Amino acid sequence: MELASAQAIKEILYPDGFHFSKSMGQNFLINPSVPERIAATLPSGYGVVEIGPGLGALTDRLSQKAEKLMAVELDDRLFPHLESYFADRRVTIVKGDVLKVDLPALASEHLPGLRLVAYANLPYYITTPAIEVLMESGLFETITLMVQKEVAKRITTTPGSTDYSYHTVYWQYMAEPKILFNVSPGSFLPPPKVDSAVVSFTMRKEPPVPVKDKKAFFKVVRLAFDNRRKTMSNALSSLPGGKEALAASCVDPRRRGDTLSIPEFAAIANLLP
Ligand code: SAM
Repeated sequence: MELASAQAIKEILYPDGFHFSKSMGQNFLINPSVPERIAATLPSGYGVVEIGPGLGALTDRLSQKAEKLMAVELDDRLFPHLESYFADRRVTIVKGDVLKVDLPALASEHLPGLRLVAYANLPYYITTPAIEVLMESGLFETITLMVQKEVAKRITTTPGSTDYSYHTVYWQYMAEPKILFNVSPGSFLPPPKVDSAVVSFTMRKEPPVPVKDKKAFFKVVRLAFDNRRKTMSNALSSLPGGKEALAASCVDPRRRGDTLSIPEFAAIANLLP
């Protein structure tokens, strides 16, 4: 059966009185070409971690190509279907909240010894923390996600743009992001109010520029964006050694924080005491 379809949702879930949960960000894919295109990015031989399989529209495609797949789903009501549908594949369904589970422990239990990639059609309200959890786990070579189109813009934007934010710097420091394609609301049931896009992050083995201390680097970035209308000189005034580091760097202290590139943030942070 084609799981990326309104028919499958009707036949599999509605008889048990299922209703979509807004609080769990449930918008299921009903356009089969979307999971098809997403799964086309999966190289063979990899272990896959999928977050939020829902009815399994994406799980179905990914598990046909994956060496093994582990899916983490929060909603109990989807388990009977997921467990029986994928019973004869190399698929493990784990009950849990992506923001709380111990992903490295689960991956070593269910996907031992494999090179790993992550996929998710995320509930949009947890996009930012979920990306952070996936990135900080250090498990994945690539992370491919459905996000709001607005967020996709913030992920790939450049200094000086209004979309440029603390998170842009974080995402681009950790990975090389790319927008793969846009997805319209009609590809989901129920249709979300916003356009979506699929983005992929290729995780970096090394930061894009040498950084002496990651914490100090992000402290400078945080201050710059907390005070994005202020000059860097004002933004860093409360940071011990901040003004001196700025003066010793090549960055004009009159510049606003949201115009600085990653190498410029690093140049300042690397001069902190
Ligand atoms: N992957 C399916 C698809 O593309 O049709 C469903 C996508 S739907 C946007 C998001 C899914 O994530 C739902 O199945 C929802 O129950 C699940 N979910 C929501 N919050 C979650 C969390 N914190 N951890 C894991 N799964 C979650």
